[in-house]
Amino acid sequence: MHQLVFATNNRHKLEEVSAKINGDIRLLTLQDIGCFDDIEETGTTFKANASIKSHHVYSTYQLDCFGDDSGLEIDALNGEPGVYSARYAGTHGNHAANISKVLENLEGETNRKARFRTVISLMWNGEEHFFEGAVEGTIRTEIAGEGGFGYDPIFEPEGYDITFAEMSMAEKNAISHRAKAMEQLIAFLNTTK
Ligand code: IMP
Repeated sequence: MHQLVFATNNRHKLEEVSAKINGDIRLLTLQDIGCFDDIEETGTTFKANASIKSHHVYSTYQLDCFGDDSGLEIDALNGEPGVYSARYAGTHGNHAANISKVLENLEGETNRKARFRTVISLMWNGEEHFFEGAVEGTIRTEIAGEGGFGYDPIFEPEGYDITFAEMSMAEKNAISHRAKAMEQLIAFLNTTK
């Protein structure tokens, strides 16, 4: 049995992955291994932040591990909010304030192109592997929908005329940046030893 830590405290993310990986891998949470450290995301790229998480666990606990980092990139804002997505308006996780800041910064802007991106760093048998997923779309001028979280009410994925927040969870999970990156990770884990 190969033990693998998912460097997250988000149960929902963990369950999504554990349902799809093969039986030879035992997936553990940070809590399972007694890790309550505040792993600081000091990187300036998603890749760097994902790496910080997997390396922290690998070097402290000598366990294989993966970590993910996601965010929204808006072309007209030179890729902002990017790695600062969770704390764009100052306070970590204040989604309403983050959305207001984006809408203000884009006022009068006609180029509304944006994408959500996820990068996963996996430390596996002492080597690092990266997996990525992205979903292209546009930023609305007003919020719409009650579902999801974060910037979902202002993000309209390409090919749709509704926002992420107006989709069912299953619909969003079929096309989301995170789901795409996780699929790649799972495919790797299911074909490797
Ligand atoms: P995390 O790295 O998955 O924790 O995401 C960091 C931040 O990016 C979140 O706090 C949100 O602001 C934003 N974000 C990431 N994924 C999504 C998504 O699927 N919908 C909306 N916002 C997201």
